[in-house]
Amino acid sequence: MDLAPPAKPLTCITISIVKTPTFADLAARYRVTNGARFQLADFNPADPWGGSLKSAADDLLSDGIARLSDLQERLYAQDRWSILLIFQAMDAAGKDGTIKHVMSGVNPQGCEVHSFKAPSSEELDHDFLWRTSRLLPRRGHIGIFNRSYYEETLVVRVHQNILARQQLPPALVTKNIWRERFEDINAYERYLSRQGIVIRKFFLHVSKEEQRLRFLKRLDEADKHWKFSPADVGERAHFAEYMHAYQDTIRHTSTEWAPWHVIPADRKWFTRLAVAAVIVDTIESLDPQYPEAGPKVKAELQKVRAALAAEVKAVKAKATAPKK
Ligand code: ATP
Ligand code: MG
Repeated sequence: MDLAPPAKPLTCITISIVKTPTFADLAARYRVTNGARFQLADFNPADPWGGSLKSAADDLLSDGIARLSDLQERLYAQDRWSILLIFQAMDAAGKDGTIKHVMSGVNPQGCEVHSFKAPSSEELDHDFLWRTSRLLPRRGHIGIFNRSYYEETLVVRVHQNILARQQLPPALVTKNIWRERFEDINAYERYLSRQGIVIRKFFLHVSKEEQRLRFLKRLDEADKHWKFSPADVGERAHFAEYMHAYQDTIRHTSTEWAPWHVIPADRKWFTRLAVAAVIVDTIESLDPQYPEAGPKVKAELQKVRAALAAEVKAVKAKATAPKK
């Protein structure tokens, strides 16, 4: 008789392998290239993908910052493409912190940040693309617009008294004005892209509740008071109108050559990671290379090398020569 012990009951172990998304995956998830079907409601400001990445986020962001540092050096040395990063958001969505963290490894010599506030009277006396055009990044540089000409279809649309102050000839201010501005922006961005300016646009999508909590934090902490302006609360009262204006703007200005990215902004660590992913993915796709010296330059470099080596020999020879 077989006295083998009874078999142990089988335990079923399920191992679920969650693949960490690549930067290209992250960039693709939040990119809007065809605005026709865009609905802001389809994008969750606290996207759950964020939750599953939390433990790896610090390492991923450090990796992104290091890659960006290397890519920017190549971009600068190559001196062909430039990158224009446009940030738009409601107050307290984290534009400033995101720019600070994501660009922390970048050589300041090849990167400029410009913030656009309510226009001056000189700026109002020009076409609406004038003030930003003067600050576009030069070749090899990364330019960051902290707010931009998109305010012209956002705050100006929500507060139409601002439009009245723009001194436009009345015949040009019709019910078509927003559609015309979208057309003009698309044509302008098309032109810039054909000049080698690669445009990526970010809407940091924060929820109204998270904005409320961040405002309260700014009021509670003395060293955050400077960040708080009572006017921000005034704008908050128009939150729904802003969301409508953002949706319409993104619908009409999402193009292959200048896509929007709707970035969940309720968790700061995730916003930073997703923005870094988009920038790294964009510059990597350009594959910037250090310029290679041609035969003439190489021959010149050899000559210089020989001359520098000869300098050392001459110094040594002088030091060892018998004194007269
Ligand atoms: P932060 O609040 O973090 O300092 P911010 O970008 O909100 O950053 P603010 O000085 O608070 O800076 O606000 C700038 C204001 O200028 C925003 O309310 C914005 O809507 C407004 N603004 C920007 N461009 C225009 C424009 N073309 N016309 C009218 N208002 C504009
Ligand atoms: Mg503000």
